Amino acid sequence: MKKKIFIFFGPPGSGKGTQADLLCQEVSWHKISVGELLRKELKMGSQLGEKARRHVSQGELVPSLIINNLIRNRLDKCKNYQGYVFDGYPRNIEQNENFLKIIKDVFGDKCDIYALEIWIEDREAKERLENRLACICGAVYHKKYNPPKSSNKCDICGKKLFIRSDDKPNVIKRRLKVYHQESEPLLKFWEKSDKLIKINGDKSISLIHQGIVRKLKTLGLLN
Ligand code: AMP
Repeated sequence: MKKKIFIFFGPPGSGKGTQADLLCQEVSWHKISVGELLRKELKMGSQLGEKARRHVSQGELVPSLIINNLIRNRLDKCKNYQGYVFDGYPRNIEQNENFLKIIKDVFGDKCDIYALEIWIEDREAKERLENRLACICGAVYHKKYNPPKSSNKCDICGKKLFIRSDDKPNVIKRRLKVYHQESEPLLKFWEKSDKLIKINGDKSISLIHQGIVRKLKTLGLLN
């Protein structure tokens, strides 16, 4: 059976990381989130983390060469899943070209690739990001709409929650701009290939998840 590969697109704050987690948990697929991988490297203070730090804190994309290598290494370590969700990669045309090469190299023709866009208005994205609490394990919370059970502690791993350094108003503005300029053109690429699935992200977490599962089932991409 061919492997299923999904790229999740959406502006920062669209909830694509949360939705990627929920889908992967439900169908035992593997999520690869570049943002999470980078935050771990930043926390460790690794060489890669230090190269990425300035870009991440300013809301800019980290140079694609670094990211492409990160993805290649990650994928080499986990080749045996039936499905993959890429959260936050590829994010520009250059990365898209590399992504296609890496996938071909690792899986040959034994996979089908789809793009899934979770769309929300910038206004809504800003509101969500300004109220976001994050955990190093990848979990995210909203101060009002999805608060942790015990204040400032992750429900999943118990670690202390933090406000991401790139969730400041001026950085949020820059990240949204970068998304519209760099990542949105990729949606046209996937739309032209008839591989783009669109999901309205302006709903509750569970309704969006149900919507994704329903759509994938309707398209015959999930059993
Ligand atoms: P995210 O967690 O997806 O919001 O990503 C946080 C930050 O990590 C972004 O604002 C970028 O600085 C960096 N980043 C994440 N994914 C990529 C990527 N594919 N290419 C370059 N930089 C990225």
